[in-house]
Amino acid sequence: MPSSHPTIFALSSGRPPAAIAVVRVSGPQASVALEKLTGRLPGPRQAALVRVRDPQSGEPIDEALALWFPAPHSETGEDVAELQLHGGQGVIAAVLEALGGIANCRLAEPGEFTRRAFENGRLDLTAVEGLADLIAAETPAQRRQAFRQLKGLTGHRAEAWRQRLIEALALVEARIDFSDEADVPEDLVGPAINAAQQLHSEIAAAVAGAKHGERLREGLVVAIAGPPNAGKSTLLNRLARREAAIVSPYPGTTRDVIEVHLSLAGYPVTLLDMAGIREAAEPVEQEGVRRARERAAAADLVLWVTDASAVDRTAAGVPLDADVVWRVENKIDAIARQGDAKSFESKDEDKFISYISALTGAGIDGLVGRLAEFAKEFFSGAESAIVTRLRHRQMLEATIQALDRALVEAEKSGAREELIAEDLRAAAVALGRLTGRVDVEDVLDVIFRDFCIGK
Ligand code: GDP
Repeated sequence: MPSSHPTIFALSSGRPPAAIAVVRVSGPQASVALEKLTGRLPGPRQAALVRVRDPQSGEPIDEALALWFPAPHSETGEDVAELQLHGGQGVIAAVLEALGGIANCRLAEPGEFTRRAFENGRLDLTAVEGLADLIAAETPAQRRQAFRQLKGLTGHRAEAWRQRLIEALALVEARIDFSDEADVPEDLVGPAINAAQQLHSEIAAAVAGAKHGERLREGLVVAIAGPPNAGKSTLLNRLARREAAIVSPYPGTTRDVIEVHLSLAGYPVTLLDMAGIREAAEPVEQEGVRRARERAAAADLVLWVTDASAVDRTAAGVPLDADVVWRVENKIDAIARQGDAKSFESKDEDKFISYISALTGAGIDGLVGRLAEFAKEFFSGAESAIVTRLRHRQMLEATIQALDRALVEAEKSGAREELIAEDLRAAAVALGRLTGRVDVEDVLDVIFRDFCIGK
């Protein structure tokens, strides 16, 4: 190995102090590092109890489990050594310092272990993304989706498509190369075009399921909207407390919209508390209302909350243009005829009205139950959706467009085989970019940026 290829190390487990800390070392110096610190190299893939010492002073640092994974059978595809230490700050600092003192060893950058795994062909790009998602998964459904992606759900399918495309391309190229020779079968292009048509419909079907797959990563977006003082914030707080919310405001969130992430029946849901939507006189407020409207319109579901006890009910209508809007009549505790205050079940999803009290919690069970059903329905099939990110969708759309061009050319009388071949090649390149087989330098930094150090 050239000296330009450093050996990297990092703390790969969580924040100390903890019972155990895992320090990983990957690269050509991994065996040297392990021998210097522990005096021995365990058998491949076997745990050994070792005394860890400072290589300079010989002073014992800790007793640990050491593991040795010779290349290529390791997570990164390189030689990898792993130490399971006692998880104290002082122990970890001493071990990292000792490793840093070994020639050609340095601390890993964020995501660098995974990047090496990618570069050594241990993971394709979609699996790398699946790994990032698995680490970030907050709900069971997200975890299952990420694990499938890590294990090749997206990558294997894309690669199989690419192979079929390359076979189709080979037929067209054979036709071009041997067009002058009499004994080349005339119809090489016909089967290639059939294959392209078949691929086109399969890929288009995958793209059609994209929205749900992407949402499973990001969460079903439910906007809580309605006139001021209807009780939106009270409802949000009640749902958040009940469903163990993960309050993680996205960057760029304005003060007009508060985001809360929940796991609802195992599905990720993002609740948005919108600024009171009403006719605003002031320009600054108008801007807030405009943004709130825009986000509500893009939500998967809007809960339009109104005050059932209000004398003035002119705001009870829903002045929003969104996919699905449920009406939530709040403050039923404050109206006289509480006998009416039960959840009204309508078969028509769009016409659902819920009568609740965000203050007392009456009717909340019914509302949460309906939300869980909605999420379940929305996400049915999403876990096996192969498109989980905008990047996947863009690559597949580029593939479809190239196939479209090839098919249009093939329809023409006097279709030019060179043009068909060029478009099939472009389609194969787009699929190759999806898995990272071709030309992806530009997206790598973006993908690995999200990883933590030690991964
Ligand atoms: P928002 O402007 O829509 O977010 O409304 P808030 O959640 O801030 O609530 C406005 C007022 O209505 C507050 O004083 C709440 O305590 C009150 N409120 C909210 N929900 C209920 C309810 O179910 N019953 C009653 N009686 N008051 C409520």
